[in-house]
Amino acid sequence: MACAFLEHPSSLEHDTGAYSAGASSILHPEHSRRITVIERELSAQGWLGFDRVRTPAVDRSVLRAVHPEPYITSIERACRSGGTFLDDDTVVGERSFEAALHAVGGAVRMVDLLLDGDASAAFSSHRPPGHHALPSHAMGFCLFNNIAVAARYALDARRLERVMIIDWDVHHGNSTNHIFHTSRQVLFVSIHQSPLFPFTGHASDVGQGEGAGFTVNLPVPAGAGDQVWVSLVEHVVVPLAYAFEPQLVLISAGYDAHRDDPLADCAVTTEGFAAMTRAIARACAHLAAPIGAVLEGGYALGALGRSVAATLQALSTEPAPAAASPAVAVTPIAHQARTRLAEFWLQLPAGPRPARSHRSRTGPRA
Ligand SMILES: [Zn+2]
Repeated sequence: MACAFLEHPSSLEHDTGAYSAGASSILHPEHSRRITVIERELSAQGWLGFDRVRTPAVDRSVLRAVHPEPYITSIERACRSGGTFLDDDTVVGERSFEAALHAVGGAVRMVDLLLDGDASAAFSSHRPPGHHALPSHAMGFCLFNNIAVAARYALDARRLERVMIIDWDVHHGNSTNHIFHTSRQVLFVSIHQSPLFPFTGHASDVGQGEGAGFTVNLPVPAGAGDQVWVSLVEHVVVPLAYAFEPQLVLISAGYDAHRDDPLADCAVTTEGFAAMTRAIARACAHLAAPIGAVLEGGYALGALGRSVAATLQALSTEPAPAAASPAVAVTPIAHQARTRLAEFWLQLPAGPRPARSHRSRTGPRA
């Protein structure tokens, strides 16, 4: 079974324009060349064995499960009228609505391909990104929350009971955090630089009500690099996956934690993204949980192309057997997170054993 790379040309037509900066103008950082460099890099590497899939626009009724119709209509009107600034840095042009519908459509189609067994792993490569877009409020370059709609679809239409979303974009996925805040069907785990836009995602935000413990925020300081990020994945994210036993794992794959990125101050390398992907893919293989990634941010063009390729390479490689103990040391940040999480996850397992946490199940397993 091949892996799938989901794409649509409308991603190139979402025109975010340029800022004026004195006498000159600077391209908006979230511009169409982000998609071009990814495709150029993958093309140079023979698409790494991925089948290219042209995505449909999302069905409006599927989109409405997260975004109310009046909001969808307001975005449609803003685009049809020629485009405008929705806030200081979120811009739409005439073709942005189509691009946004296909960006969500890519994530939703990816879920179908994975759950139907038509793809062994997948990457949905579209713009605009999604994880900041609240149900009725565009923000942070995002119009609709692509990954949240896909997760909602997996629960509602595909009848899954446990979906895990891992968000490694350098910015906190505030919208995904918000949408599933009271749900125990979605385990949302975010690693992000803090403080940084959107200034949410504190470690103390663990979800609410029934969902307490199913939101896991792992803020890291500026300067954090591979050691910190990969350690958090190996020693916190992967053990959480073994405890939660998701039926589907979705990655909010932003690449702005890269050391070259102009919008943040972390120091992850291309190999760091590969290592995080390998660790998650290995857990997914043990759990028989399909894995798919959805493009979020990433604004250093060369680093973005190479890091997406590294992710695809890791997704398409047969995972190595789980080591008795991961090669990456437990950093103090990972240790503190494990201690914090003990309130909800009694014992984070080191390997692929069923967890005994009282909060690890949401009902009978499918
Ligand atoms: Zn970001």
